[in-house]
Amino acid sequence: MSEFEAIKPNFITQIIDKDLEANQHDGKIVTRFPPEPNGFLHVGHAKSICLNFGIAEFYAGAACNLRFDDTNPEKESQDFIDAIQRDVEWLGGKWAGPVRYASAYFDQIHAFALELIQKGKAYVCSLTAEEMTATRGTLKSPGTNSPYRERSVADNLDLFERMRQGEFAEGTHVLRAKIDMASPNINLRDPILYRIRHAHHHQTGEKWCIYPMYDFTHPISDALEGITHSLCTLEFEDHRPLYDWVLDNITIACHPRQIEFARLNLNFTVTSKRKLKQLVDQALVDGWDDPRMPTLAGMRRRGYTPRSIRNFCNAIGVTRSEGVVDVAMLEFAIREDLNERAPRAMGVLKPLRVVITNYPEGQVEQLLAPNHPQRPELGSREIPFSREVFIDVEDFREEANKHFKRLILGKEVRLRNGYVIRCDEVIKTADGAIDHLLCSYDPETLGKDPEGRKVKGVIHWVSAVHAIDAEVHLYDRLFNHESPDGNREEDFTAHLNPHSLCVIADAKLEASLASPQAELPYQFEREGYFFFDPVRSAGGKPVFNRTVTLRDTWAKVEGGQD
Ligand code: ATP
Ligand code: MG
Repeated sequence: MSEFEAIKPNFITQIIDKDLEANQHDGKIVTRFPPEPNGFLHVGHAKSICLNFGIAEFYAGAACNLRFDDTNPEKESQDFIDAIQRDVEWLGGKWAGPVRYASAYFDQIHAFALELIQKGKAYVCSLTAEEMTATRGTLKSPGTNSPYRERSVADNLDLFERMRQGEFAEGTHVLRAKIDMASPNINLRDPILYRIRHAHHHQTGEKWCIYPMYDFTHPISDALEGITHSLCTLEFEDHRPLYDWVLDNITIACHPRQIEFARLNLNFTVTSKRKLKQLVDQALVDGWDDPRMPTLAGMRRRGYTPRSIRNFCNAIGVTRSEGVVDVAMLEFAIREDLNERAPRAMGVLKPLRVVITNYPEGQVEQLLAPNHPQRPELGSREIPFSREVFIDVEDFREEANKHFKRLILGKEVRLRNGYVIRCDEVIKTADGAIDHLLCSYDPETLGKDPEGRKVKGVIHWVSAVHAIDAEVHLYDRLFNHESPDGNREEDFTAHLNPHSLCVIADAKLEASLASPQAELPYQFEREGYFFFDPVRSAGGKPVFNRTVTLRDTWAKVEGGQD
């Protein structure tokens, strides 16, 4: 089944269309998604996944590779590799062939480095990091040549080999491309190609103690895989001349075209792995897959569906202009998907006991409730009704005006999918708090209004003896500032929303939720969408995570009460 077939045309698909018309690439388009396994994927990566895998699905015979860009062994791990694969798959990405690793090309990349040295286009530089920075120049002034720039080919080959053999300490030597220290593009001022790192690598073990830089690794990996269009975010635009320089100066047949697009920025969110890692490391969240995290793993646990994320990415489109997308658009996408697909259920978050005095003690009847009001094909379920039910505290007032369309002392309300009840008496505790309500029901009102009067309000409820106890986690935005990391001087964690998680320990849910289905969240009627959390539920009460509220409560213009 196609997951991404609905990809919206954009400037990149236009380039591909033209290439295909001109009969380039033998009609075979190949893209890649190249994550660095140094953290979990976040919603920004989803944009890149949808673009790359979307193109692969959209064009007949096209393919998309999954390649780990693993040139920083100290920051990477197998756990991240596993998590990334899981998340790409979950979002619907189907990569061509095996999972690939830049580290699998280290032999070839090393051979290309030797080729550059032999051609006099790369040299071993022995400046310290500080000296290198000092001689790089600035945006306005050119850099100065390294004193090691004119080392002989023989010396360079010898030193580079000894670097590889592990003879030198980290930071003592690097291999640099010999391009132009006066280039207006700083990336071309003799960039580093290789550095020494005495580190264990998760894929290559102890084989290497020199590692190629991203800018050297990436074009070669792309070319070795026969990538036709190498799509990346705009910050790599200035690196494109180097990407092209590498491929133009080594002996390699393929020269992929790098095309940049704007990264996804979301307000009220941070989408930087480094910052997300900080939240995890400082235990400010409950791990990479905390349901408040903008990671795909967190969103999955919260109840976001792959389809809603794909629809969101398609809706924002792919352009070259940087902007900030309103997180409300993401929330809209999940509401839209769940409104259509989520099964309905009833759950009372803040229970208030109601005794229906004219209902026979011990009697239980099964009422029929549709699983989806607009989709009869989704069937219905039985919900038990008995003498005692729970309604939500918020749905009762002793006194209220006509705008409060719920239960009021002396007035009537309909129990969803059930009877009309009237509140006859409020029973209070010694200190004046409401303990429970005494109500009476009208047996003639199942599925119809009582004779001669219309009951407008409808509230949800559960039968007290049948309800299951559950914990409900009400999640809200993780940050309460529109641009949490917008100010460099400030610590973005200062903008964490203290109310991003509210735990309700004693919710009462309808009995059918004792064995919840795992794929989709439920709509708890009138409350929002809630997703069963198998991790948290293990061994205790079931835990449901609120995916999203029914309406946008952050919107400036709030809807009225219902
Ligand atoms: P971060 O900035 O969060 O550390 P990154 O760019 O270092 O992300 P990579 O693992 O290198 O993360 O990214 C893999 C791919 O995803 C790259 O092609 C990158 O351009 C793309 N990508 C990363 N962040 C975004 C984003 N916010 N929007 C769109 N694409 C993104
Ligand atoms: Mg990166």
